[in-house]
Amino acid sequence: MAISDGVDYNLDFRWKADDAWYTCAAILEHGSRLRVKFKDTVQSYFDELYSVTDFSTHREIEQFLSRFRPVSEPVEDNECSRVLEGMKICAIYRSKDEALYYDATVDAVQYVEHTPDKCLCSYLLCWQHGPGEGTLTETTIEDMCFIVHGDIHPDIAEFANLVKQQLKGADSVQSQVCGSVEHSSHVGSCAGRESICAETSAYDMDIGGVNKTDPHHYIVLTNLDKDLCPLLMMHFIHEHTSITAQTCVCPGLLQETYARGAILVDSKTKLKRIYNFINNPNHFITSFSGRPWVIAEENLRSGTFTTNLRKLQPKCESYSRQSELKIARLGTEEYKKAKELKDLYMAFHNHQKGLLQRLAMEENKKRDP
Ligand SMILES: [Zn+2]
Repeated sequence: MAISDGVDYNLDFRWKADDAWYTCAAILEHGSRLRVKFKDTVQSYFDELYSVTDFSTHREIEQFLSRFRPVSEPVEDNECSRVLEGMKICAIYRSKDEALYYDATVDAVQYVEHTPDKCLCSYLLCWQHGPGEGTLTETTIEDMCFIVHGDIHPDIAEFANLVKQQLKGADSVQSQVCGSVEHSSHVGSCAGRESICAETSAYDMDIGGVNKTDPHHYIVLTNLDKDLCPLLMMHFIHEHTSITAQTCVCPGLLQETYARGAILVDSKTKLKRIYNFINNPNHFITSFSGRPWVIAEENLRSGTFTTNLRKLQPKCESYSRQSELKIARLGTEEYKKAKELKDLYMAFHNHQKGLLQRLAMEENKKRDP
């Protein structure tokens, strides 16, 4: 907690101008205006003021809310083993002129034996946004912070509710601010469900950040659990890559033991990041039962969809522990089991691929003898 001048700088704010995180305080003034004060520039000249009338859609205010979270906590030297591969953290990105905070996923960790007061480990980070987006940087613990999860700051929540009351046609029940502002970065389980309400309404409005008339970029997945909830997929992907994607699970044939699905986003870069996350050779993404996700084909595809794919989904029951998604990491029993299951599936998959090629050949012969 950072208190200066009687102001409690207990939030991080992702500033629109450079998309970097800054420590700030949020104060509701005159019951209609939100003042954001930056810890590094305490003079009121630098404050940002947001009025209730600055927002014209629910999506705008939801996006604004997602720019706040509790202030991140620096990783102490004796806490380095808490930083795990796949975890989302906030870290300093150093460029020629600046050193600013952005979110990154820990791509690799090299632990080294050391005393508790001086960490000598190194970490490879994959930047999730900002100037380094999609690139890797080797870093040390001094530059890293744990992302903290918590309820929305009361002043911001009140401000958001004022905005929503103003918005025409606002449904007071649906538009209540709920949940936390940030997903959990716990590794190995999908723990972002406390924020499902805000996320779901944004999803309904806007099909996961994908405009209906723009081209979509997508990959097809297979070997999914038949009862996998697409929303859970969406949360899981967001938790680990910070990308909001559209997800679907297609109804399969009754005799099939698995389902296919797809992940759609609005840019190729985002899709590549999701692809790399799923295809990381050091882990498998599995359901609670251990069934590993398989990318059905190597190609990153694109096309335009005219409807929200979620509308075509069978109704999904609420999450249960049985439907959790996990990351099975190299060296664990879960990984071994997932690898065996993937090998088994791939043998079937390749066999089927051979049969399909043969079928196509035979069909061509009949059509065009
Ligand atoms: Zn260390």
